[in-house]
Amino acid sequence: MKSVITIDGPSGAGKGTIARLLAKRLGYGYLDTGALYRAVAWKAREMKIDPEDESSLAKLLKDVSISFIGERISVDGMDVSSEIRTAEIGELSSRISAIPVVRQGLFEIQRDMCLKGKVVIEGRDTGTVIFPESENKFYLDAGVEERAGRRYEELKLKDLCITLEATVEDIKKRDTRDSTRKTSPLTRTGDMIYIDSTGLSIEEVVEKVMDHLKK
Ligand code: C5P
Repeated sequence: MKSVITIDGPSGAGKGTIARLLAKRLGYGYLDTGALYRAVAWKAREMKIDPEDESSLAKLLKDVSISFIGERISVDGMDVSSEIRTAEIGELSSRISAIPVVRQGLFEIQRDMCLKGKVVIEGRDTGTVIFPESENKFYLDAGVEERAGRRYEELKLKDLCITLEATVEDIKKRDTRDSTRKTSPLTRTGDMIYIDSTGLSIEEVVEKVMDHLKK
């Protein structure tokens, strides 16, 4: 399968930026799967659902309508594009993403959104679980300090109280949770092209990906 390019990797590795640019260059669509987990987390918080309450989350997944218009994301008709980008929703999305009913519910949504055309999809399990049949799979990585630094630059624009130290701790916690959860842990498999973006510019990383796609 060549119509879907998958990019997996830990928080702050630059998957979103790279996937977006790659999609633009190739004329593909782009799916940010982290935004889907964040959207579910946002809705769960709105509904005051306990993040451990599996049956309420299953019902939420069955009833919720999530849609993208370009890069803006709506949940049940409400644009939540900036609301989902807070540290609080990041933490909550990481917690609920470990729950199997949430992953099952989002599995179909992700497949449906991509099978309509050519898409670059990025997340934690896009090459292992969502599109294992893809022929173009990438794993994007970077050192923890660099990843935290990038996240901090994004977050401090919205949250004046955030510190770099807290962001490093948050990234480490999320790395552990993402890679040790029982359902679809973040994993690098032998059929993925590994790219370490530490010290590389965005353009250099995109070029590396393009080089592999041309091969
Ligand atoms: O990538 P982003 O930080 O926006 O993702 C939010 C959270 O959603 C991550 O911390 C991760 O736990 C979860 N996630 C996931 N699987 C994906 C995408 C995101 O578990 N495919």
